[in-house]
Amino acid sequence: MKQITSLFDMQALVYPADAKVGFVPTMGYLHEGHLSLVEKAQDNCDLTVVSIYVNPSQFGANEDLSRYPRNLERDLELLEALGVDYVFIPSNEMMYPQPYLTWVEVSEYSELYCGKSRPGHFRGVATIVLKLLNLVRAHYMFMGEKDFQQLRILQKMLADLNHPCQIIACPIVREEDGLAKSSRNIYLSPEERIVARSLSETLLQIKAMVAAGYKDAAQLIKIAVANLENNGASVDYVEIIDSRNLNKQVQINEHSRMLMAAYVGKTRLIDNMLL
Ligand code: AMP
Repeated sequence: MKQITSLFDMQALVYPADAKVGFVPTMGYLHEGHLSLVEKAQDNCDLTVVSIYVNPSQFGANEDLSRYPRNLERDLELLEALGVDYVFIPSNEMMYPQPYLTWVEVSEYSELYCGKSRPGHFRGVATIVLKLLNLVRAHYMFMGEKDFQQLRILQKMLADLNHPCQIIACPIVREEDGLAKSSRNIYLSPEERIVARSLSETLLQIKAMVAAGYKDAAQLIKIAVANLENNGASVDYVEIIDSRNLNKQVQINEHSRMLMAAYVGKTRLIDNMLL
């Protein structure tokens, strides 16, 4: 595995003529969710590039940028063990030369759901992902459905900008009790860890209700919110959307997906499930 820390080296890297290049952008502190994307990239591409970069522009002023978990040494061991070809580890100075003036904004979609409580978050995400793609020049980018709104926003960005990279969406990897794996789960105390289960449990309960014939989105959302609050989570939002385009739904159909964000203590957790 070759480590690349210079922007110039990344952009100048010459790939073999018809090699399909797969890219997995991450913020590090890798878990099995990230590693599942890497494996999918390896299965489907000739060369795999993973980036590790905690992107400051996607964190709000009161968010957890300074305490975001980091363990580069362990991340590199995990990627090396999987046989990743290249790992790209840029610095803030390289990615945001001062004054930094150019941003990518996927309007409308970025104001919804997570965008409401995290203003500017998706602008930061869209900008860094496009910048990374300009450097890595991958054919395919592997992303998790865990961040479902992010996935749809980035697909829209690439389509609107006629970018040739294609996103491959990968399923959510969960802990044994259902909690979606996340680098932020490390923040949870043992008591909070129990409360955190209520996100995936609620999604499963709502999915079962849909299977039993419930079709009214507002009613299902109300039940989900009550369930989360009763379990000690503090709801940021619960919505039912059309998986294809992020639009809110009134009636359930085969594209319905429940998205949720809730605070467990000070930790903001997100999850989603196709209903
Ligand atoms: P992050 O390091 O949190 O920015 O995530 C990097 C990539 O890993 C994103 O595409 C995420 O959607 C994906 N990811 C994070 N957690 C999971 C998970 N539990 N299952 C699948 N993919 C995930």
